[in-house]
This record gives sequence, structure tokens and C-alpha cells, in this order.
Amino acid sequence: MTTIIEDLLKKFDQTTALQNINISIQDGEFIAILGPSGCGKTTLLRLLAGFDSPSDGSITIGDQQVSTKYVTLPPEKRNIGMVFQSFALWPHLNVRKHIEFPLLHHQYVPADIRANTAKRVDEVMKIIELTELANRMPNELSGGQKQRVALGRAIAPKPELLLMDEPLSNLDAELRMEMRKEIQELHHLTNATIVYVTHDQAEALAMADRIVVMNKGKIEQIGTPQEIYSRPTTAFVANFVGKANLIQGTWESDQFTPASYPAITWPDLGVSIPLKKQGIYPIRPEQLEIVKDQQGIEGEITSVQYQGKEIHYTVQADGMDWVVHSGMMEKFRLGERIVLQLKVAVKEEQKEV
Ligand code: ADP
Ligand code: MG
Repeated sequence: MTTIIEDLLKKFDQTTALQNINISIQDGEFIAILGPSGCGKTTLLRLLAGFDSPSDGSITIGDQQVSTKYVTLPPEKRNIGMVFQSFALWPHLNVRKHIEFPLLHHQYVPADIRANTAKRVDEVMKIIELTELANRMPNELSGGQKQRVALGRAIAPKPELLLMDEPLSNLDAELRMEMRKEIQELHHLTNATIVYVTHDQAEALAMADRIVVMNKGKIEQIGTPQEIYSRPTTAFVANFVGKANLIQGTWESDQFTPASYPAITWPDLGVSIPLKKQGIYPIRPEQLEIVKDQQGIEGEITSVQYQGKEIHYTVQADGMDWVVHSGMMEKFRLGERIVLQLKVAVKEEQKEV
């Protein structure tokens, strides 16, 4: 079942929360909707779920058009599961009853599951690894366990589409990493189509088959994690997904001349055509090298952060702050005069990804 979002527009009075949204989601795909707070992610998910109606455009799930500005199928009539940031568990129901609830009350429960709900509940309890805690109440569970209950409740009726709105942002850092793996495993086990909303680029890169990067209600770029990271098509994407130093200048075929360093030309390390047209050369912090007494961009170190396997520097040069991540053991000092060079070898490493 594919899900097709076509020319979606959503206005709230004066605010345009979404415009020109076009996404085609394949069956079984894990799509991340990534963008900063306020860019329209939750609005898009609410439209997919049927909690709200579009101002224009349409959403089609499988062969059914479920949302237009004229008719919106309500959530209970869509074959979807939802997981929220806040878990949204019911305080008076134990774990097992949470999983059972949608099987007894939802409209779209496959006939074989409806015929034997106890079996499906057992299956889901195993998937979310809470069999032993079946009788616990929500207030007797940890944050991670609560989120697993919310996941189990969402997948129990085998929905066509699983929608998740920042499901991990209420968990601490370590648990978030653990739950990332669990959600990936869940995707693998259930083959569900997942639309996963997050403002965390690392989460999107780690889990998604494709990422939709949004900014101010519009789509900036859609692509695989590798495409989004290695070949961003807008300055926003280059800077939001991983850090990038955005250098202005002119592109002539595959050579870039920075605006203020006409003496140097840089080779094309895989810059996308839209960025070339804008005269931008995005340089990742790990593509720069700090050297001394050589040719390059002269600057001064204005911050040094030791990160364990890397050192993160800020270098002031050519009127801007450059972010440089260095894996070298040699440590430069705050205030030291240095030279920045482009590491051309990085290209070969990236190609293998
Ligand atoms: P995100 O989830 O990416 O943080 P939202 O989808 O919640 O963003 O919000 C997108 C924009 O739409 C914001 O400017 C927000 O203030 C506005 N918005 C969302 N819901 C409503 C609403 N019910 N009424 C008015 N404005 C809204
Ligand atoms: Mg939101």
C-alpha cells in the first residue's frame, strides 16, 4: 500500500503551516520527517492521521483518498497506528489491556486477529518484551517500558501506516539509543510503513530509509540518509543535517573559486547542482584540516573542545567562523595562528558509504 501526499496545504488563520507538500511513501518504507521545531511536522502527521483537514491538496492511503479539503476520513476509520511523545497511556489499564484495547475496539482489525485476540496480544507482548510485566500498571513502569507499551498498542492491529511523533524525545540519551534499535527491529519484524517525525538529525540518519527535510512548512529535500548528508541540495539541509561551513563563491564546471580567496580553487567533492547554482560550497567539519606554515586560508583558533576521539575547533578566518573536526592527536591552542586546508582524500572515503 503506498501513501501519496499531493500538493498539501494547511493554513491556520494567517499561519501557513504546510505548503507544496508532495511525498510518495512506498509500502514498508521507513520515512523520517525531519526539521526544526515549528516547521510543520506535527501538522503533517495530524493530517495523515485524520485529526485535521487540509486547506487544499489530498492524501491517499492505498486506493482510498482519505483527506481533501472537502472530505476527511476520521482517524478511527483509517487503518493507522499512532505513537506520541507523551506515551499517552491510560492510567487505569495494565500493560496487557493496553495491547488488547485496539484489538477489541478498532474498526480495522484483520479477521484472523479478531478471531483470536489473546494470541495476538501474546505475540505483541513478546515483540515489545513485556510478557513478564503484563499486569503492571503504567505508574509501575519506567519511561522506556511505557514507550514500548505505546509501540505495542500501536502495532497490535497491524496497521497499514504507523505514525510516530517524536516518540523518543521524553527519554534520556542512553535509552533513546536503545529504543532506536528497538524501533528498527520492530520495523523489520512487522514490515509496517512508518512515518517518523523528529527534530533530531542523528535519529533520522540512523533509522530511516528516506528522510524528508522540512523547513518553514515546506520540503527542502527528500532522499536517503546518504544523499541528504553527502549531497544536500539547499544551504538549510547542508547545515541542519550535520554541520557545514557554507562558502560563497563561483562554480565553473567542477572548480570552485571562493569569493574572497581568488587565488585558490577547490575541486568538486560531490556538491549538488542546486548548491552549485547558488554559488555555495558546503564543507563538512571533517573535510578541513588545520596545518601550519603552508598555503591555505589563514586564521585563528577561537575555541577548542576536546571530544574524546576528536577535537572540535572554531577557527576565525576570512570574516567567518569555521567549524573544524580533527581526529589528529596534535592539539592546537586557543588564539594560535593556523592555516586551513581542504582534505581532498575525504572524497574517496565518502564514495564507499
Ligand atoms: P512542529 O511539529 O514541526 O514543531 P507544528 O506542526 O506543531 O510544528 O506547527 C507548525 C506551525 O503551525 C507553527 O507555526 C504552529 O504555531 C502552527 N500551528 C500548529 N497548530 C496550530 C493550530 N491548531 N492553530 C494555529 N496554529 C497552529
Ligand atoms: Mg511537533
